[in-house]
Amino acid sequence: ATPAATMVGTSIGAQTGVLFKGGDILERAKDVDTVVFDKTGTLTEGEMELTDVVPLDSTRPATDGGDAETAADGGTQAIRGEAEPGAETEINEETVLHAAASAEAGSEHPLAQAIVEGAEERGIDLTDPENFENVPGHGVRATVDGEEVLVGNRKLMRDNDIDPSAAEDELERLEGEGKTAMLVASNDTLLGLVADADTVKESAKEAVAALHERDLAVHMITGDNERTARAVAEEVGIDPDNVRAEVLPEDKSDALDAIQQDGRRAMMVGDGVNDAPALATAYVGTAIGSGTDVAIEAADVTLMRDDPLDVVKAIRISDGTLQKIK
Ligand code: ADP
Ligand code: MG
Repeated sequence: ATPAATMVGTSIGAQTGVLFKGGDILERAKDVDTVVFDKTGTLTEGEMELTDVVPLDSTRPATDGGDAETAADGGTQAIRGEAEPGAETEINEETVLHAAASAEAGSEHPLAQAIVEGAEERGIDLTDPENFENVPGHGVRATVDGEEVLVGNRKLMRDNDIDPSAAEDELERLEGEGKTAMLVASNDTLLGLVADADTVKESAKEAVAALHERDLAVHMITGDNERTARAVAEEVGIDPDNVRAEVLPEDKSDALDAIQQDGRRAMMVGDGVNDAPALATAYVGTAIGSGTDVAIEAADVTLMRDDPLDVVKAIRISDGTLQKIK
């Protein structure tokens, strides 16, 4: 493009909240053949809300004649095999939420904040956590009321020698609804689950359709679990084969490299600190919305508004079609 065309593009972009970090970036965006979205905060609002609290039935010892399998609701199972009947305390929603929210009070993660707010809305008094520890990509650990509480995914439980299988049916049910389900354990015993849900952005589906219309491949990379990721992908029209889930923060840029391997030129779109290395690795890195400063710094393009359709706009400004129509 001529210097004049580049100036027009840059200026149209600036007027509509699509900021290119330079003329060469503006040139490059039109050559993108693949768009890779982060999920949370990019395709979704990133505003989590606590939707479910599920106590696991621990009042019947699992060792007691296979009682667990005949549990009336089929969804919960006995798990406190070792406990003396007299020593058991009933696990209810409040017990689960109190433990989870008290531990999460130490975390800044959107999943954590939703749990804490949900507990407060339900009038549950929280205990200040001690020895709080963040386990990135997995969950949190803290001492609550003298008990060792863990809140997080299956991997967090397995890494701490807690078998998550008693919660598997409930996990799958919640994840199938596109929710992020988290396990709650106290002193090596599973208490239950909590789940947060996020809303898919209004224009996400339209943006994916517009990219497909332009013959671009559309992918998604997320730290969230496979089932939740696929439910969201389906909702916005991304092929399940193009979904990479359970990607740890430090592995996101490797996942992007794998997509770019056979000479593909990818635009990575993300909002988080998590996404910064992948934004830097991508042919074009795009930070979206109220993205963190770290993401904006690593990116080539910044979309000022929180609208996935602006991804399409950035590409159209680059190839000149937006100027012609305007
Ligand atoms: P994303 O890439 O979607 O932003 P993260 O990498 O931050 O996700 O986290 C990946 C997964 O680790 C989450 O889906 C959740 O299961 C678990 N996790 C992370 N932080 C927390 C937390 N504070 N509490 C509970 N679970 C967490
Ligand atoms: Mg994100």
